[in-house]
Amino acid sequence: MRELLVFSALLVAAFSRENFVGHQVLRISPADEAQVATVLALEQLEHLQLDFWQTSAEPRRPTDIRVPFASLQAVKIFLESNNIQYSIMIEDLQSLLDEEQKEMQRSRSVARSTSTFNYAAYHTLDEIHAFEDMLVLENPGLVSKIQIGTSFEGRPLNILKFSTGGTNRPAFWIDTGIHSREWVTQASGIWFAKKIVEDYGRDPAVTAILDKMDIFLEIVTNPDGFAFTHTKNRMWRKTRSIVDGSRCIGVDPNRNWDAAFGEAGASGNPCSETYHGPRAESEPEVKAIVDFVKAHRNIKGFVSIHSYSQLLLFPYGFTNTRAADFEELNTLAKAAVDALSSRYGTQYKYGSIITTIYQASGGTIDWTYNQGIKYSYTFELRDTGRYGFTLPANQIIPTAEETWLALLTLMEYTRDH
Ligand SMILES: [Zn+2]
Repeated sequence: MRELLVFSALLVAAFSRENFVGHQVLRISPADEAQVATVLALEQLEHLQLDFWQTSAEPRRPTDIRVPFASLQAVKIFLESNNIQYSIMIEDLQSLLDEEQKEMQRSRSVARSTSTFNYAAYHTLDEIHAFEDMLVLENPGLVSKIQIGTSFEGRPLNILKFSTGGTNRPAFWIDTGIHSREWVTQASGIWFAKKIVEDYGRDPAVTAILDKMDIFLEIVTNPDGFAFTHTKNRMWRKTRSIVDGSRCIGVDPNRNWDAAFGEAGASGNPCSETYHGPRAESEPEVKAIVDFVKAHRNIKGFVSIHSYSQLLLFPYGFTNTRAADFEELNTLAKAAVDALSSRYGTQYKYGSIITTIYQASGGTIDWTYNQGIKYSYTFELRDTGRYGFTLPANQIIPTAEETWLALLTLMEYTRDH
């Protein structure tokens, strides 16, 4: 009887979860502008159900597309007949996801404190919430939890505040996981939180930062999407809001900010992965941060963390016009990237969003920059495509360690300027 129950539970799990058997991720290398346009045109062919993991706007950068098994033939023939080069980056996505699940089961344990918490594993939303509560309990004088809002499906939007006192001190904001499938980002956020409390009072750099500045950290910025990546669809990127008049769910929360909202660089199609939403700040996950930033009025640095591609980006995304502080932001980005590379030699590119990746409107840091938060940056963490969103858990700690060095550079500079 027990076996039967276990078996049926497995069966339910297997059938309720989206499966990616035979899905391949193709790395496409367009040779010229015309081929870039040809590849982009694939996005309009909705019946192919393509998922753009990384989009190129220029010949020197590849485009990575997850192609469902049923569309593989058509896409490969399309590329070959247009003489467009491609390689198979991921042979069978489901086998990587199976490996990820097995690894999560193997490493699963209930941590009773943040000292026994497994930082080298991916965790569920409940586990992350429990981690946050433990960290607050263990460090009452340094860490507090603030609920800044509620997600579309009613989950709390929690941020951690690291503060050594004072009222409304200058502050530095870090968020991870606004795109829910970018799992290495939430995992890195957890590691950063522990790192801050470990180093305060011990490491001179962290101590000096916190003696002058508060740090706010939102680890699970899109909790509905994140829960969904665990229970239903590992590849979910958007929020889970219901869009009036559409069968498709969710809005891209990195196109939903009130900065050139709805202009070129976002989609008006609710079924698109870059759908900007019915109006600016329609998503409660975005609105909560907007309200918090406006009420605080003393946030000096703002970092929004994504994966993958290994990039450090700054405004603007929506326009080719250079940000007024371009030179300073560019110089600081170089310093941050150099610090990052010093740990493991990981190579990052840096620059403004529009010149480095593509035009994007309604993005987080264009909004924060226009609010007067000069030091506004976005990271795209590891890797450059071998695993993409399915970065193995054994890369979490190295990724967080090297990124932390870049964050320290940004925080120290922000504190001093
Ligand atoms: Zn992202």
